[in-house]
Amino acid sequence: MTQFTDLGLDKLLLKALADEGYSQPTPIQTQAIPGVMDGRDLLGIAQTGTGKTAAFALPILHRLAADRKPAPRRGCRVLILAPTRELATQIGESFKTYGRYLGFSTAVIFGGVKYGAQIKALAAGIDVLVATPGRLLDHLQEKMAVLSQTEIFVLDEADQMLDLGFLVPIRKIVAHLPKQRQNLFFSATMPNEIGKLAGELLKDPLKVSVAPQATTVERVNQQVLYIESPRKRALLAELFEDKAFTRVIVFTRTKRGADRVARSLEQVGVEAASIHGDKSQGQRERALAQFKAGEVRALVATDIAARGIDIDSVTHVVQYELPNVPEAYVHRIGRTARAGANGSAVSFCADDERNLLRDIQKVTRQTIPTFDRRNDRQLGAMTAAMPEPAGVRAERPAHPPRDSHAKRGGRPQAKSGQGKGSGGGGGAAKTGFRGPKRGGGGGGEAAPARRTGVWSNR
Ligand code: AMP
Repeated sequence: MTQFTDLGLDKLLLKALADEGYSQPTPIQTQAIPGVMDGRDLLGIAQTGTGKTAAFALPILHRLAADRKPAPRRGCRVLILAPTRELATQIGESFKTYGRYLGFSTAVIFGGVKYGAQIKALAAGIDVLVATPGRLLDHLQEKMAVLSQTEIFVLDEADQMLDLGFLVPIRKIVAHLPKQRQNLFFSATMPNEIGKLAGELLKDPLKVSVAPQATTVERVNQQVLYIESPRKRALLAELFEDKAFTRVIVFTRTKRGADRVARSLEQVGVEAASIHGDKSQGQRERALAQFKAGEVRALVATDIAARGIDIDSVTHVVQYELPNVPEAYVHRIGRTARAGANGSAVSFCADDERNLLRDIQKVTRQTIPTFDRRNDRQLGAMTAAMPEPAGVRAERPAHPPRDSHAKRGGRPQAKSGQGKGSGGGGGAAKTGFRGPKRGGGGGGEAAPARRTGVWSNR
């Protein structure tokens, strides 16, 4: 087994890794670090949870340390583009963690916040700049940022960039970079347009592909619960009766849905926070910090807001609605299987989501165990009596669930072991759900970025 000490990394990096308790590189780190240390371009097919951030941060920091020079004014030695503010912040934090003994400056720049602090940070020059594309492009167009002396360029989560419409801004940013540079390119999937972009950017890249989607999928204990849409709320409340659901990310398809689900959880006494694109930066940071600190049990999120969020010890992922794109299913459940750990994922599937479930099973090449909770009278006996949370549109059906549902499938395993209307702690039995097999706690979460939209360690 390769150890970090076998890779020839700077001693001060090894010291920081030892602080983190990391001794063995993950597969992507073993494969990527030596080539990147040598200055090669890299094409990495990997998703979050594989250790990909350290796979590029460690060799980059090693190279910076081996060739110390002042950061260029208004520019940076290393530029990392990330699709979301959360991911950008996390990458910045990783650089700070691994580079804590090296003394390089790091800054994170993203949109939705004032420009002043960012312009100030850029003016002095930054060793490692992590940015979202839109805001960086603004700074470039205003000539507040100059990339002509950037030595290393990293594009992270390229497929997500495509989804968010960032390909044009990225091409514009790349036009500001010098021809002579090292390029690292990461994507979880390789749609055509991303393959094309990689082809344009990379020269003779080292190709590393890890954790093909099935690998993460295999580590997660998954199940699907068939349920009528209007009763999802009650089913979710029931899941939280299980004390094992201590740190849970709940996915919804829409921003409004996220708020609604968070409110309905609060209503049954489950502390919850929601996170999505309509929330201010401050609100998002607060929600994440509360979740990390264990002050709220549930973080209700949309796909984009949650993508890349790296929170250790997420016990369960609940998909309140199945995603429209099957790949998102894999990303979602990956939130609970961090760095080789196992996790648990439960997905609600209403009748009109059956086709989405079929697509997911096709893409992940697996049959997910299903349990039928439709027409389950025990479910929601308590919550049904409660009024809808404030500001919530009633979602009750115009007519009661059809009988035919009960005949199809008739919830077999799910009911085994369920006491008659048993209360607290019954969730596991009702769902047939096994808790995640995890080692010790996560610990060591870094503080969220400050509200200025830029932080640097100068
Ligand atoms: P990433 O794929 O970069 O989002 O990393 C996923 C998680 O794995 C992060 O919490 C990292 O801190 C952690 N991690 C990265 N490398 C290692 C390693 N070699 N050993 C243990 N944990 C790691």
